[in-house]
Amino acid sequence: MTGIHGVSAAHHAGAEDIDKFDDLYWQSRTDPIVEDDAFLERIVAGAELPVLLAALAAALHDTSALRPELQPPLTPIDTEPHPNGGMTDEQCREASALALSGLKQLRDSGITSVDILTESETRATLGYLTGNREEWFDMLKHELDLAVDKGGKPAWSFEELAAARDFTTLIVGAGVAGIAAAHRFAQAGVPFTMIEAGTTVGGTWAKNTYAGVRLDTPTFGYSYSFAQRSDWPHQFAQGGEVLEYLRDVAHRAGIVDAIEYSTRLLRLRWDDTASLWEATTSAPDGTVNVRRFSAVISALGQLDKPNIPDLPGFADYRGLTMHSQEWRHDVDLAGKRVAVIGTGASAYQIVPAIVDSVSKLAIFQRSAPWMLPAPNYHEPITDTFRWLRAKVPHFGQWYRLWVILTGIPGRAHTVTAEPDWTGAPLSVSRKNQELREYLIARLETQLQGRPDLLEHAIPNYPPGAKRMLRDNEVWSAALRADKTTLVTSGIARFTESGVVDSDGLEHEVDAVIFATGFKPSDYLDGVEVVGRGGTEIHDFWNGDARAYNGITVPGFPNFFMIYGPNVGGVVAGSLHFMLERAVEYSLSAIRVILERGVRGIDVRAEAMDRFVEWVDRGNRAMAWGQPYVSTWYQNRHGRVSQIWPYTNVEYWNITHAVQLDDYELLP
Ligand code: NAP
Repeated sequence: MTGIHGVSAAHHAGAEDIDKFDDLYWQSRTDPIVEDDAFLERIVAGAELPVLLAALAAALHDTSALRPELQPPLTPIDTEPHPNGGMTDEQCREASALALSGLKQLRDSGITSVDILTESETRATLGYLTGNREEWFDMLKHELDLAVDKGGKPAWSFEELAAARDFTTLIVGAGVAGIAAAHRFAQAGVPFTMIEAGTTVGGTWAKNTYAGVRLDTPTFGYSYSFAQRSDWPHQFAQGGEVLEYLRDVAHRAGIVDAIEYSTRLLRLRWDDTASLWEATTSAPDGTVNVRRFSAVISALGQLDKPNIPDLPGFADYRGLTMHSQEWRHDVDLAGKRVAVIGTGASAYQIVPAIVDSVSKLAIFQRSAPWMLPAPNYHEPITDTFRWLRAKVPHFGQWYRLWVILTGIPGRAHTVTAEPDWTGAPLSVSRKNQELREYLIARLETQLQGRPDLLEHAIPNYPPGAKRMLRDNEVWSAALRADKTTLVTSGIARFTESGVVDSDGLEHEVDAVIFATGFKPSDYLDGVEVVGRGGTEIHDFWNGDARAYNGITVPGFPNFFMIYGPNVGGVVAGSLHFMLERAVEYSLSAIRVILERGVRGIDVRAEAMDRFVEWVDRGNRAMAWGQPYVSTWYQNRHGRVSQIWPYTNVEYWNITHAVQLDDYELLP
């Protein structure tokens, strides 16, 4: 839709409102609707109807339009989301009429704000949106500013529990997880010191600035429950937009100046006698500091340490080299002959971004990626959406809730293994085989007339066994370009001037880009963590990182990992939800320490083993857990140690309360 005018900047809220709604981006008011009926009709035609009905019901304090017969069926998402959650045409017709009438009512009554909902309004709205899946309600309320019992914000304060106690926390890392931790700790008033090895907040988004970097999950599922920005420019935000958001959140949360930048954690040692962590940190000038803390929050990233393969002859190569995460902005690739090694999520974004400007491109592919259709991958937010978020109170936030809600089951059903399925190693179930065939048919269309490329573009493993990419056909277009060579024989060695493939052919290149990923199973890489009895955490793990709820490790009291082992979602769920819950859980554990006046809390080994056994069972039932697949989701023992196989709701349930039976309290 074009020609929508009259949208002005949202009215920002005062501190009181931000506090009441627990949202740093709370908007007190929207702009009044002044458009005529015909205009509103066009808006309704382009709107996501369940979201609009929910937003109108809340703004009008009238849930009568949320009729059971108009509930979206939430048709499972195989590839792209179904418009309106899969509502039938008839449902859409009726819902559109109700939405139009609601919009007129909003206009005619001049309503430009919304307030906390009553419990029954909340339940009616969530019931409508979820098809009465009550077991999702508590988790969803965590994401709903308007729920009277929105979870997340600490309902206690350090001051009231232990004002006199000398208790300090170290938060390590100011990326997506660290920002959430600092905000919640600040809200609870728990004293903390925050260190960051880099020079800015933003973590992975500050580091990954390569050409083409952007989200590969929908933007509206990628924000904090306490910072629900809704004026995003793109449907899949560009890297710089995410970084700008993170900086802004840190600024609004008031934590920016509290961060010690350029400070790297080298070592943690638990002092059994004092029940304190001794933290050794370094500054860029080599100065080493030792400080003591009552608790430590590790918000170190998972995809952080570049994996640069050890390839023969690399030292001889005279050209430029860079890893995707260490992009050389001082280098102009225009006109250069470039090799890209790897065909994962980073390469998928880099290759289309540089193909037009380089003179030659050699792509070294070890395994072909599966690509899900995402025609809107590079698209801005639509005009209709922009109008709705500016004019209908809380519309953008309701849309965010919708993305998170439909992401609860996500696409898990397409990658769940059937026990007696005989299609291995190419698929894990009938549904997975159907998905495989559908995605192959897309590739056949995209690579029509290029059997040489098609032969190598079809992955030889089940869809979902590795991370699937979002495709708007730019990858196949780059492969088809005259200047591109797809090399699939492997890398034999480097020479002074290029790379020799395993067929013996030399590809002379001016620059080599390693899009070869990270070392995701090496949790806490580069940090020595010595716990009770002198046990070092990497020795304890022996290459198989494990943590109870992905957070606590036996023998390492008062040490909490945010986004630790086995909590990464890949086909379902919100990353922010998972890490916010880990933050909230860590705070709850600290509350136990403060309330009970104990010095520490240490998870029991049997509790962690039980958790690991449970997630292993879940992962074994997924495409990535099959013994014949190889993926970065697995560690060197072959165990899937990165991935969470269940939904956000299960994580809500297990992190809802600290089960004291699972912990030893240190007096
Ligand atoms: P990746 O998915 O691990 O891909 C690395 C690529 O390099 C793979 O194609 C891999 O081949 C190849 N490779 C590794 N070692 C190699 C070697 N020795 N010789 C030849 N090829 C080699 O890494 P990534 O693309 O950086 O992505 C990592 C993760 O980061 C993603 O899965 C995603 O979670 C995240 N990410 C997110 C975004 C986003 O949201 N915007 C963007 C980028 C990355 P094999 O497949 O055969 O191992």
